[in-house]
Amino acid sequence: MDTRSENLLSIVIPAHNESAGIENALAVVNNVVASCRTQWEIIVVDDGSQDGTFDTLRQLAQTDTRLKGIRLSRNFGKESALLAGLKAAKGDAVITIDADLQHPPQLIPVMVDEWTKGAKVVDAVKRSRENDGLFIRTRARIFNRVLSKLGGINVQNSSDFKLLDRKVVSTIVNELPERQRFYRGLSDWVGYPHVSIPFDVEGRVDGDGKWTLWRLIELATTATVSFTSAPLRIVTVLGFVTLIFGFFVATDALVGWFQGRAVTGFATIIITLLILGSFIMISLGIVGEYIAKIYEEIKRRPPYLVEEKIRIDED
Ligand code: UDP
Ligand code: MG
Repeated sequence: MDTRSENLLSIVIPAHNESAGIENALAVVNNVVASCRTQWEIIVVDDGSQDGTFDTLRQLAQTDTRLKGIRLSRNFGKESALLAGLKAAKGDAVITIDADLQHPPQLIPVMVDEWTKGAKVVDAVKRSRENDGLFIRTRARIFNRVLSKLGGINVQNSSDFKLLDRKVVSTIVNELPERQRFYRGLSDWVGYPHVSIPFDVEGRVDGDGKWTLWRLIELATTATVSFTSAPLRIVTVLGFVTLIFGFFVATDALVGWFQGRAVTGFATIIITLLILGSFIMISLGIVGEYIAKIYEEIKRRPPYLVEEKIRIDED
């Protein structure tokens, strides 16, 4: 007798140049999910891979009817790939997981359990990143720290490995019209009952990490700019600090002038000038980031374009 309930679980996997490991990853995920008492579908979003990831998918989908695929027209970035997957997912719950098995699929049944018990969002939270290099770990730590401090949203150690209830998925997909997204931040922002499950980040099984330092800086900027205007306030604070400082320096200069002290201090002037100059440049840069984001949003371009679909219904 089949004891499966009528619930449908969607697994969304963003993949960029993952042909080396995707078959194995799918096998592992399929295996694990089979132990959950639900129906399931797996949606792999090929984020503009150049290495035949989608060919592999097409082949696998011939025998695996639960496998669905979306190919984006180029590399739009993981955030867009996740969004494409969430949009296509039909499940009562959706799990997002990396294609490189760095997010242990063994957690899936635990997440589903928590969901059945009522959690609307189940976050897998990184306990350690011992398998990542020191540089990557430090980078990740700085990234999360800055964002938590500035953005007031908790992404400390959080990952994109999550389970979202249908309600949360619809909120994120339908009710948040923004183009530039930061998945981790959004799923915290929406609220609803959250449950965290700690996990250890595994080493990558095949291929290399796809994040260049530049991409990560971009993500950090999007994350910060889309969640907080604190940097703008820092600019204002900087302005006041220099004003107060300037007031003292000006008083000193005036007093000196009345006392007939000779004008000296070329070094002071040049240093002040340089420091003020860089404050102004940085401030302009910060303001510029926000303007750039406003510009991006206002263009209303779609966050991704789909080139091909496997078993995805048109809507
Ligand atoms: N990924 C993607 N588009 C990109 C970069 C990465 O869809 O432009 C996918 C990638 O295939 C993987 C996941 O996002 O499934 C995480 O990527 P990666 O392992 O490179 O990053 P990390 O593990 O360092 O977060
Ligand atoms: Mg990875």
